[in-house]
Amino acid sequence: MRTVIKVDRVIDGSGRDAFGPAAVVVEDNLITLVREGPMGLEQDTRIVDLPGCTLMPGLMDAHIHVTGITSRGPVPPAPDLAYRTLASVQSALRHGVTTIRDVGSYLGVPVALRRAIARKQVIGPRILACGKLIAMSGGHAYQLGMQADGVDEVVKAVREQFRDGADFIKTVTTHRAALPEFTQPELDALVAEAHRLGRKVACHAGIEPGIGMAVRAGVDSIEHCWIPSDETLAAIKARGTAIVPTLAITGFGYSYPERPQASAERTAAMLYENVDQAEAIKSYFEGTFQRLPYVMRFAKENGLLVGAGTDAPITELPYHSVIYEVELLAKFGFDAMEAICAATSNNARILGLDRVVGKIEPGLAADVIAVRGDPLQDVRALRDVCFVMRDGQVIPDPEPTQALRQV
Ligand SMILES: [Zn+2]
Repeated sequence: MRTVIKVDRVIDGSGRDAFGPAAVVVEDNLITLVREGPMGLEQDTRIVDLPGCTLMPGLMDAHIHVTGITSRGPVPPAPDLAYRTLASVQSALRHGVTTIRDVGSYLGVPVALRRAIARKQVIGPRILACGKLIAMSGGHAYQLGMQADGVDEVVKAVREQFRDGADFIKTVTTHRAALPEFTQPELDALVAEAHRLGRKVACHAGIEPGIGMAVRAGVDSIEHCWIPSDETLAAIKARGTAIVPTLAITGFGYSYPERPQASAERTAAMLYENVDQAEAIKSYFEGTFQRLPYVMRFAKENGLLVGAGTDAPITELPYHSVIYEVELLAKFGFDAMEAICAATSNNARILGLDRVVGKIEPGLAADVIAVRGDPLQDVRALRDVCFVMRDGQVIPDPEPTQALRQV
C-alpha cells in the first residue's frame, strides 16, 4: 500500500527549519520519500490530504510506568492489569504518542504487551520495556521490580532481565534524601554488565551524591536529574550522558513560578497520604524547584541531550502527558523546535531507536502524526492531533487533548 500524506508544513524532527507545503510518501511501514511542493500521483495511491496541518514524527515518552503504580492496596490481578494497560497505551497512541519506554511496571505486562503489539495481535504504540527495575533491598520503588545487593547480585539481576526480554536496564539509586542507595562498585558492575550484553542503562537519580555516582558509573540516561551539583553537570556534559528531567511530575505546571510552595505541597499530597513522607517529599520538591530552572538553562546552553519523559500516570498524569512535557520544556526556555526534538529525535537517540523512528526521513518507520496549526508558533498545537500513523497503519479516531494541567 502506497500512501501520500499532503500537509501545509513538515517538522522532520531533525531540528532543521520546517518546510512546506509538502508531501510524504509511505510504502508499507516505511517513509520512502519526503518532498516539498506539489507531487504527481500514481495509481493505487491512497491520498491523505491534511490542509492547515503540520506533519511531524510521532511523539515518544521516554519515562512512563504503563501499568500505573498502586500506592495503597494490592496490585490488581494480572489479567485486569493487562487489559487496563492495553486501554491506556491505546489512548496514548490516539493522542499521538507512538513510542513509549516503560521504566518499571508490575507483573511483566510491558514485555508481554510489546510482543503482542509487535506481532500485530493488538494495536498499540512501540514499546521498550525494562522488565523489572533493579533496586537495592528496600530501595526506592523496589515494589516495581527486584531487589539486589552486592556486586554479584546486581550482575545476576541484569542477566535475569536480559534473559526475560528487557530492551534496556532500569535501575534506581536515590530516594529523596542525600543518601545514595547503591554503592559505587554495585553501580559500576551493573552498568558494565548491561553494556556487555548490549543494553543501555536508565538510572533514576534525583539528588546528590547519587546522580554523580550514576554518571561516573557510565549510565546512559539520568532520569529526573533535579538537584545535580555543578561538578556533576560538568561530568554529564563531558560524558554525553542524557538527562530525562520528567518536568510533568514535578508539579511545576500548577503554579510555578508564582507559587512554588503551593506546587510542592500539592505534589507531595498527590504522591503520598502518609504525613511523614509528605513532609520529606515536600522539602525534596522545594529543593527541586530551586535547582531545576538552573539545570534546564545549563542543559540548553551546553547542548545536553535532553529527552522528554513524564513519569505518567503518577500524580494522575494522563498517558499522553508527553504533550504537556513538551509545553513545560518550552516554559523552561527551550524553543519550540528544541522541545519537539526532545520528544522525537532526542528520545529516539536515548532509546537507541534513532535508525528506526524519531524523524521524518526516507528509510525510517512511518510513525508520524499531524496536528492542526503550527506548533512552532505555539507548542500547544500538539494537543490538537488530527492524524496518527503507526508503522504505516492509520490509527482510527485520533483524540485531541481536551484538558491538560494548566501550564
Ligand atoms: Zn518513574
